[in-house]
Amino acid sequence: MNTSLIAMGIAFLVVIGLVVNLGVLSLLSGAFHFLFARPKFLVLKSNISATGLAFGHKWNSAREPAKFDKVKLRFFNPFGKPTHVEIEREFAAKTTDFAVDVDFGNSLKDVLQTKNLDDSSIQFELVSSKDGITHQFEYKMRKFLEKFNQASETADDFNNTNEYVKDKPLFETTTKTFIADELPEGEVAQIALPTNPAFQAAFAGAGGGGGASAEPQENFEVKKVWIADGCIVCDACENIYPEVFEVLEDTCIIRPDAPLNDGLKILEAAEACPVEVIKFDRA
Ligand code: SF4
Repeated sequence: MNTSLIAMGIAFLVVIGLVVNLGVLSLLSGAFHFLFARPKFLVLKSNISATGLAFGHKWNSAREPAKFDKVKLRFFNPFGKPTHVEIEREFAAKTTDFAVDVDFGNSLKDVLQTKNLDDSSIQFELVSSKDGITHQFEYKMRKFLEKFNQASETADDFNNTNEYVKDKPLFETTTKTFIADELPEGEVAQIALPTNPAFQAAFAGAGGGGGASAEPQENFEVKKVWIADGCIVCDACENIYPEVFEVLEDTCIIRPDAPLNDGLKILEAAEACPVEVIKFDRA
């Protein structure tokens, strides 16, 4: 037999072996999950008089993320009274193993007092309304009552043992929307800045601290301008007078060739500085 045929045969067997192994591993994983990682329902001791029923719920929340927020109790008793009871209760949504103590009301008393222990059964359905997931657990009534009467762990005990992460408090945030008035047709949008020539009249005198209604202030020369400690690099000064101010990564500097003849503009930058670190001396 030629060697290439032998090599192909070996390769074929290796591939078949890999496929079979993967299949077996997948089956084992499914079986493991079915046997050991199935969701669990634990009957606990209620602290709510005769109408309360506490239970714990465990499931693999990493594999099956869900927010459980509802429980449905169904009682089936075909040969006795009541023949069928269905109670539904909601609770704050839980995302990991949790226990709750639920008041199911007076109907629960009828369920617990049934005499048909071998013919009746009780079913609990945990529901995640948001995720559309349900987990169902069913007991013969005799078995359930045994667990119910023997339960000693409360919902609080369960949550403490399982380090249940309590729901984070929700804080309401206010949402605001600001909508500017529409510009009249044909007008070009202009920003009302003191350096915009179209608004110079409105801002005349603003540098002198007198407001828009003050008399226009006479310009002046500056002898020296400098930045004191505390610049927060907000860029305001450079936006107003880039020929004089240069904002670096961690501070602002005065350009070496800065023109000092427009004192009003330097004053405007100084007044715009939020931390008031722009200083200057008039000439
Ligand atoms: S306006 Fe003031 S804080 Fe802002 S970059 Fe200029 S000097 Fe710094």
